[in-house]
Amino acid sequence: MTFSSFSFDKRIDACVKACGYESPTPIQRQAIPLILQGHDVLGLAQTGTGKTAAFALPILQRLISSRSPRNASKVLVLAPTRELALQINENFTALSRDMGIRSCIVIGGVGMEPQIRACKSSQIIVACPGRLVRLIARNAVHLNAIDTLVLDEADRMLDMGFLPDIKRVLAKLPAKRQNLLFSATMPKSIRSFADRILNNPKTVKI
Ligand code: AMP
Repeated sequence: MTFSSFSFDKRIDACVKACGYESPTPIQRQAIPLILQGHDVLGLAQTGTGKTAAFALPILQRLISSRSPRNASKVLVLAPTRELALQINENFTALSRDMGIRSCIVIGGVGMEPQIRACKSSQIIVACPGRLVRLIARNAVHLNAIDTLVLDEADRMLDMGFLPDIKRVLAKLPAKRQNLLFSATMPKSIRSFADRILNNPKTVKI
């Protein structure tokens, strides 16, 4: 199987090539078609398997094809740590060159104002839950146009005690959206969390 079987926009194919990706990884083969079709997805995969591109590529394809305003935030990715959030943001940037799509990062430990400004002109927000809740409390970020939610390393987010913050974020999102949840492990707590958030999800595991 090659990336061309997904029929991505030419600009996405060019970015995939520039990143040096020759063929899709197993999680990409399974998840990309489901995400393109609009399904909610429960993905059991560790970091290092190519799971970021597994959600980033179909999300970018859908952003390119939709005629929504360029300045509204459409996609929210929640991640447990600053390091992971930075990596996800880098991946989105590398895979979306020359597409007029912007992503921004919302993490603790750095000034809020530049993040608030960047969010206003970004279609994709990659955030750690704690800092995002602080921005929401200040009414500094608008999540009313979000139509795609990604919860990455969901097991770690729960282990780190982010559930209350995630619930506060969820309360601000439109009910009608596509939900993608990735986790390396599937304890009972994640299963019931996933049951609450995902609608008729397709499960992929590697
Ligand atoms: P991730 O699991 O998303 O952290 O990805 C792990 C590493 O694999 C990252 O450095 C990605 O850039 C890289 N990667 C993702 N997809 C592919 C692919 N199809 N072929 C080669 N490398 C990839």
